Amino acid sequence: MSAALTQPAAFWKAAREGRFVLPACGGCGRVRAFPVVRCHVCRSTDQNWVEGPREGRLYSWTTTWRVLHPRFSAVPFRVGLVELDVEGQDAVLFVSAMPAEPADDELAVGQRVVLEFTGLPDGRRAPVFAPVFVMAADGGRTCT
Ligand SMILES: [Zn+2]
Repeated sequence: MSAALTQPAAFWKAAREGRFVLPACGGCGRVRAFPVVRCHVCRSTDQNWVEGPREGRLYSWTTTWRVLHPRFSAVPFRVGLVELDVEGQDAVLFVSAMPAEPADDELAVGQRVVLEFTGLPDGRRAPVFAPVFVMAADGGRTCT
């Protein structure tokens, strides 16, 4: 049985320590954003936790302004799909909570994002990816 599947607490333990870990195939080394029963590349069922990248690009996002469920009553909140910078691989897409600021019209598909950690109401720390900006000549900011 896969270690990634039997030890999901390892993800949260690493986050508590300020580390971002992802499951990787023990057969071919392919990194994934979530555990799988069997690698679709080499068919191995062996998985391990490895250090994940701390940067990526914003692939897409959505911002919710209405309370749709009591458990998610702090609005607005934003969820992004981040294409992680995994060397030698493409399309490692990680669903990430994101800061609700800045406004949607300041974000852009392809924008650089960096890993941060935020506290959750239950005391855990969770990885989030936040947009990166640079200061423009006119004093404003622009995405990278
Ligand atoms: Zn594999």
